[in-house]
Amino acid sequence: MADQLSYFLDSLQTTIPISERLSLTEAGFCQILHHTVPARVVISVPHDGMIPADFGHFHPRDKGPDGKRAVHGRDKHVWPIVNDILQIAEAANGAVDAVRFLVPRLYIDGNRAAQGSENPDPDTSHQTAFDDDRLLGLYFNYFEVIDHLIARAVKHHGLKNVLFIDCHGFGKQPDIAPPEGFDLILGTDNRKTIRYDEPDRLFAGEMTDLGYQVFLPQEQPTRPQGDPYSAGYTTINTASVIGGNAMQIEIASRFRAAKEDTVRGKKLATDIAGYRQALHFGVRYQPADRHPGASREVDSHLKCNSWRWEENTSAGVLKPRHFLGVELRI
Ligand SMILES: [Zn+2]
Repeated sequence: MADQLSYFLDSLQTTIPISERLSLTEAGFCQILHHTVPARVVISVPHDGMIPADFGHFHPRDKGPDGKRAVHGRDKHVWPIVNDILQIAEAANGAVDAVRFLVPRLYIDGNRAAQGSENPDPDTSHQTAFDDDRLLGLYFNYFEVIDHLIARAVKHHGLKNVLFIDCHGFGKQPDIAPPEGFDLILGTDNRKTIRYDEPDRLFAGEMTDLGYQVFLPQEQPTRPQGDPYSAGYTTINTASVIGGNAMQIEIASRFRAAKEDTVRGKKLATDIAGYRQALHFGVRYQPADRHPGASREVDSHLKCNSWRWEENTSAGVLKPRHFLGVELRI
């Protein structure tokens, strides 16, 4: 029989309105930022949740005898960057919906196929999503949130106008990296997850013009064993399920690792939010902004609350933008 605590827990309000159009929901170990009018871009962050010591009580994912059956590492500080992308887009009347999975990767990997289901990612064919069946519900909750966010976006904007991004962080530079290393590595299963137009090429072009080192997968892998950090389960599976565009973005550790990386991380978030194809994001740069050497000034209107951005300096340029022909001054 339910006691008073149970009634109270059942009645907990987990959705907080942030503004008239944006709400934050915590449910099923997911943190979900969602707009009343669905955004065209949906970003998921599966590997930057709680640390293992925050969780517990369950069986961790088994690494196997060779230690390679499960990756446990956290994509540290990817979420603050995504959170900033959201807030920067928001400030310019753009919109991005996002979900962060909070269960530590030690227990559930939100980028692996569930046991018994088809795994389209050969790189992880020997890896499990979770090894404790009690966690099955949490695993599927996360993917259901992604599916719902995308489904309503597709219904509102049309399939070809929606972009799903699975966002990660990488530490080790691949052998094909330039001497200075990659800043971003895109994963599209060699463009099989790009079904409409060229959002991958446009995004890579924009970011390259802004001075970033971007790995852009082509139709064929650059090396026999496949491209580095190629699209994982969620990107491949989601593109296949919705029949639309999905892209994985891996962010180098120099944007996330230490406190002094925060200025770089914030600029990266600003530049990603300005992605021209952002008819998706609802935000566009003017041509002058595309030159990396252009003078950049702090925009004091930017209020990014993520803890990383205490030093509110050289954030990057935010000038009048256009959205569907309408100039926005933020
Ligand atoms: Zn990851």
